[in-house]
Amino acid sequence: MKRISIKLRITLWYSFFMCLIVVVVIGILLGVSKGVTISETKDLLMKVVDDNIDEIDYDDGILEIDEDIELFQDGVYLQIYSQDLKLIDGRIPSSFNVQLDFKNREIQKINTQGNTYYVYDELIAFDKGKDIWIRGVVSLEAAITSITIMIYLAFLILPFLVILSIAIGYSIAKRSFKPIEKINSAANAISEGKDLSKRIGLEEGGDEIHQLATTFDRMFERLEDSFEAEKQFTSDASHELRTPISVILASCEYGLAQEVDINERIEALETIQRQAYKMRNLVTQLLAFTRLDRGIEKLHLEEIDLSELIEITCEENKARNEKGITLDWKVEPNLKVEADFSLMARLINNLINNAYQYGKENGWIYVSLGKKDNIIELIVKDNGIGIAKEEQSKIWKRFYQVDQSRTRNESENMGLGLAMVLWITKVHGGKIKVESGLGKGSSFIFMMPIKNE
Ligand code: ADP
Repeated sequence: MKRISIKLRITLWYSFFMCLIVVVVIGILLGVSKGVTISETKDLLMKVVDDNIDEIDYDDGILEIDEDIELFQDGVYLQIYSQDLKLIDGRIPSSFNVQLDFKNREIQKINTQGNTYYVYDELIAFDKGKDIWIRGVVSLEAAITSITIMIYLAFLILPFLVILSIAIGYSIAKRSFKPIEKINSAANAISEGKDLSKRIGLEEGGDEIHQLATTFDRMFERLEDSFEAEKQFTSDASHELRTPISVILASCEYGLAQEVDINERIEALETIQRQAYKMRNLVTQLLAFTRLDRGIEKLHLEEIDLSELIEITCEENKARNEKGITLDWKVEPNLKVEADFSLMARLINNLINNAYQYGKENGWIYVSLGKKDNIIELIVKDNGIGIAKEEQSKIWKRFYQVDQSRTRNESENMGLGLAMVLWITKVHGGKIKVESGLGKGSSFIFMMPIKNE
C-alpha cells in the first residue's frame, strides 16, 4: 500500500484533534449551560412571583388586583388562587393541565405532555379565610430552546469550519514541505545524474528546513571538493607512474638494440633500475595514503617519548653528511605524547629530509623540541632555498612541488612528503605551519598536546 504523504498525515491528525476538541468543548458547554439555565429559570420564577405579591391586596374586604400585575412575564405564567384553591385570575400554559398540591415557598418539578415545568407557590396571608395563593409556572423547554438553537447552529457551522481549516492547513503544510521536495530533487539529481555541482539553492531563511537545506548544500560542496581531490589524486598518480614507465620502455628499447655495446646496455639497465625504484617508492607512498584514507591502517596510539625519538632521528641523519650540511639539535628531555610511533618517525624524517633536500651547500639544519604550556613544539629549521609566500599554502597538497626543476630528484621527490606530514599531524590532533621566505630558509613548526603523567 502506498504510504500517505507527511503533509496529508499532519493535516489529518490536526483536523481530527481539532474536531475532537470542538466536540468536547461544545459538550462541556452544553452540560454547563443546561445546569446554569435550570438554576436561572428557578431564580426567575421565584422573583416574578415575589415581585407580584404586592400587586394583590384587600380593600374594604374586596380583593383588588393591581392593573400593573403581569400575569405572563419572561416566560413565567402567574395564577392567583383563593384560599379554597379556586382560580381567581391568571394564565396557565396550555399543556399544563395537572392538579398539583400547593406548597408554600417550594419549587416543584412536573413532567407533563413531554414538557418539564417548574411551579412555585406563595401563600399571601390576609385575614383568616381570605388568604391568597399566588402560583408561578415556567416551562424549562422554552428556556433551553435558545441554547439548543445555538448548539444546532454550532453543529451546522462546524463541518464548514473543519473543511475550511483542513484546506488551509493542507495548503500551509504543502508550502512548508516545498523546500523538502527541492532537497529531494537535488539529492536525486546528484545520485542519478552524478552531477555533484547540483545545489538545492534555497533562499536564506531561519526555519529548520532552510537550515537543513544550507547544511545539505555545504555537504554537497564538501563532497564535490573531496571527489575532485580524489579525481585529481588518481590522475596525478597515474601521470606520475606513466613517466617512469615511459623511461623504462625507452631504456629497454635502447638496451635491446643491436648496435649498442655492453656499457650502454649497463647504462640502460641502471636507468631502468632507478625508475623502478622510483615506481616502488611512489607505489609504497600511494598505498600508504590509500590505507590511511580508507582507515585500513589503524593508528596505534601509545605513549611515546618524543624527545628520545627526535634525538635518535637526528643522530642517524647527522651521519648522512649530505651537501656539507650540519645538523644540530636541542631537545628538552622526557617529553611524552600519545602517538603512533611509526607515523611520528615518518613525520620527523620527512621534515629533516626536506631540510637536506632544499638546503644550501654547507648550510645548516637546526632541530628543537620544547614545550609551551601543555603543547609540545617541534621546529625543523634550515637556511636553505626557502619557499615563496604564495607557495606556502600549496606545498601541503598531494603531488604539489614548488618548482619541479629545483627539486627533481629522480627517485625520491614526488610532492607527497608534506601531504603525509599534514595528514599525520591532523590524525594526532596537532597543528603544523611553515615560516619561510625565498632564499632565506624555512622553519616547519609542529605542535601537539603533551601527554600528562
Ligand atoms: P617533495 O617530494 O617535492 O619534496 P614535499 O611534499 O615534501 O614534496 O614538498 C613539497 C614542496 O615544498 C617541495 O617541492 C619543495 O619545493 C617545498 N619544500 C618542502 N620543504 C622545504 C624546505 N625545507 N625548504 C624549501 N622548500 C621546501
